[in-house]
Amino acid sequence: MLQKRRTFLKTTSLGLSVLATGTAYRCQGKSTPIANVTHPVIISTWDHGMAANKVGLNILKNKGSALDAVEKGVIVVENDPTVQTVGLGGFPDREGNVTLDACIMKGDGQCGSVAFLQDIKNPIAVARKVMEKTPHIMIVGSGAKQFALEMGFKEENLLTEASRKKYEEWLKTGVYKPKINIENHDTISTLALDANGHLAGACTTSGAAWKMHGRVGDSPLIAAGLFVDDEVGAAAATGLGEAVIRTAGSAMVVEAMRHGQSPEEACRSVCLRIKDKHKDISDLQVGFIALRKDGAYGAYSLQPGFTYALGQNETHELYQATSMF
Ligand code: ASP
Repeated sequence: MLQKRRTFLKTTSLGLSVLATGTAYRCQGKSTPIANVTHPVIISTWDHGMAANKVGLNILKNKGSALDAVEKGVIVVENDPTVQTVGLGGFPDREGNVTLDACIMKGDGQCGSVAFLQDIKNPIAVARKVMEKTPHIMIVGSGAKQFALEMGFKEENLLTEASRKKYEEWLKTGVYKPKINIENHDTISTLALDANGHLAGACTTSGAAWKMHGRVGDSPLIAAGLFVDDEVGAAAATGLGEAVIRTAGSAMVVEAMRHGQSPEEACRSVCLRIKDKHKDISDLQVGFIALRKDGAYGAYSLQPGFTYALGQNETHELYQATSMF
């Protein structure tokens, strides 16, 4: 997958003035702007965001809600055993357990989340049930699994043969250095704006590969991994969760947009803050995507290599985000 990404993409630089009007350049080296951003729009992290967007945009084009679009979109990725960073086939923790984290949020402030969920391949759908069927926002661990089973989700083994083999290889050294970049993570975060002007977001992951048992990152945390506000816009994160939690990353991106920054400027300001909070950022990757309520969008990352997928009108495109280094 990594190989494919590298050959497919060519880096482009997204100019701030261009982004402020909701346009961007294709990443295959053409400099054709996609003009006139109109509803609906869907934006997702990484290459696998393309698959999520295809399902999500179809829902949006049929007048479906942003909430359905983001949930059904990321489920495609959760169900794909070849994506080893999300759902079925996700890399396990250092003890061999696949543990999943996810959250979902609507622009009116409703949200739901699960963390440290085992044996259920669609944590995003469980998070939605938490939002819709309980008085709570976040349920974790065995409680989340119990709730999922009560809601009719099926228990299954999520550790695929391919991921088990990689885990066994890792065990030979067992060295854990949370170097996070496109090789060993890839949370899917998806943001959508529907035809009624409502926003929603979803974020789902198996977290950092070989993490400590019980470790939870930013992805299931509202404000860190995801934040959505119909009055302003939405943002989501990928990368080293600890760095994103420390800065309440996604909420800060939305607040920066509230204060007038363009989506890319807002993502960049929070990346700068993260940079300032860490002594050594040579191995640190964090990337944000943002979608404003008028359909303008942007992304930014610390290190190069962060890709995001955009779906709107009849087009699906993959972009390389501008990065700090
Ligand atoms: N943010 C995720 C985590 O720290 C990792 C990722 O983006 O893949 O768990």
